[in-house]
Amino acid sequence: MIRRALIAVGLGAPLAVLTAAAILFLMTFAEPARRPDYVVRMTLPERTGPIGLPKVEGPADASRPLVVIDAGHGGHDPGASGQRGEREKMITLSLALALRDALLADGHVRVALTRDGDRFLALEERSGIAQRLKADLFVSIHADASESPDATGATVYTLSDRGSDAVADAVARRENKADTVNGVELGGKSDAVTAILVSLSQREMRERSKAFGALVLREGEGKVRFHTDPEREAAFVVLKSLDLPSALIEAGYISSPDDARALANPGWRKGFGAAVASAIEIYLARTNIASPVP
Ligand SMILES: [Zn+2]
Repeated sequence: MIRRALIAVGLGAPLAVLTAAAILFLMTFAEPARRPDYVVRMTLPERTGPIGLPKVEGPADASRPLVVIDAGHGGHDPGASGQRGEREKMITLSLALALRDALLADGHVRVALTRDGDRFLALEERSGIAQRLKADLFVSIHADASESPDATGATVYTLSDRGSDAVADAVARRENKADTVNGVELGGKSDAVTAILVSLSQREMRERSKAFGALVLREGEGKVRFHTDPEREAAFVVLKSLDLPSALIEAGYISSPDDARALANPGWRKGFGAAVASAIEIYLARTNIASPVP
């Protein structure tokens, strides 16, 4: 039995190889027309490197201070919605453009927008644009929404102390590579000294940001209707890891019919733009010796 089986295997093995070869030949060449076409779909990452920098508008003089205006949301992120279908992403864009126009009309400072159309940007990309352009000020514009129809008015947010450790960490990581933080040389210093320098720098940025926020409230008086508690601090991601003064302005509540009407009104937006532009110009004139006092 064993011998017969071995003979059978001995004959069978070359036969099997031949059969397999024949099947392979037929599969490969026999009926190429009937071979199906396969379509492979895969999601590719949207971007592989840093996004392109926006154009800088205003005076050609590069020594003039630069403000980066960030219209919140955009693209597939509509932000909050109003009762009449208003979308925050369109309101923020209109307000950012009104602010840009007011600044360009005055001609004192340079301006760049993180977006000038309906497109999506990650939060880190927005602050990244300001960092890469070495902006002097970053202003992010949003419109709030609340369950309560009584919630009305604009609010100016600056980065809270609660976020300061993460900020210090992020800035330290980035700035250790660049060897400077806000002009302070860090090269060769210990981690502990670096952490102290970064922490001091962040405190300075928070104070400057608050000073700018106070100017927005002052210049907006009579033009922008503010919330009853209009000066607040929070750990906004878009303001984190920025080592330049920054603020996030919630221009009003689109959930409030009164505010939504104002936000949709080009005249009101022009007034908002003029008020915030005035605050920006005064702030930059005070902090940047190279800029003329408006
Ligand atoms: Zn928003």
